[in-house]
Amino acid sequence: MLRALSLFVVGVCANVLVGLPAFAQSPADLTLTRIDCGTGATPTDVGQRFTDTFAYKDLKLTFTFSCYLIKHGDDYMVWDTGYAPGTNPSAPKVGLADRLKELKVAPAQVKYVGISHFHGDHTGQLEPFTNATLFIGKGDWDQITSPTPMQGANVAGFKSWIDEKRKVEPLTGDKDVFGDGSVIVLRTPGHTPGHSALLVRLKEMGPVLLSGDAVHFHENYQSNGVPSFNFDRAATVASIERMKQIVGNVKATVIIQHDMRDIGKLPAFPAAAK
Ligand SMILES: [Zn+2]
Repeated sequence: MLRALSLFVVGVCANVLVGLPAFAQSPADLTLTRIDCGTGATPTDVGQRFTDTFAYKDLKLTFTFSCYLIKHGDDYMVWDTGYAPGTNPSAPKVGLADRLKELKVAPAQVKYVGISHFHGDHTGQLEPFTNATLFIGKGDWDQITSPTPMQGANVAGFKSWIDEKRKVEPLTGDKDVFGDGSVIVLRTPGHTPGHSALLVRLKEMGPVLLSGDAVHFHENYQSNGVPSFNFDRAATVASIERMKQIVGNVKATVIIQHDMRDIGKLPAFPAAAK
């Protein structure tokens, strides 16, 4: 007993000394809900733009578009916001705000919105979250606010954030969102300059790694594949390697956000993973 206690004290002190998040103690209440944010109107020939090495010959995949709600105690975080309904044939029929209402969550209650990157299929429904702090990689935020944004940066999606001077936290490294190690935005650049992924350490299901577009589909993850339109090839490969090491070290379930085959890894809406 005494030995166990002293080990505990040493453990606590070590955490304090190096300022590490307390990974051992996950919060009592952490859930993750997948929300449908669109489906590809036609299958994508991934051998075209989604490889710079002529891989995936003849492979056609119907992409899905995913948004997520994380509940941590009484706080809510949204991860990625998909396309806005009605904007294109792949957009969802029901918007994110309406889906949240089904879960009895008002958009104004959402404390944090994290986005993996600035592309339009991840930033189409930012507008409703009037009280949230936006987490975005600094490399992406710099493009959104540049007089000459790079191609693919969905500046229009951030209009209310810029016009109303809403809270933004441009990230230069990882972000331990709730300060307890349970939800961490991971710096994974390459697809875009400031791309991020998200680690959610659930109590029952175990850690879940939401990919953003660090990878787009299983074959892409397995082969360290790089789409030809990515911002930085070397950074992309390094980010995929980082994700694989995290997955191995913490035994995480990878959810590739555009891959239909990963939808079933989480309970069907409105149920949440715990
Ligand atoms: Zn993208």
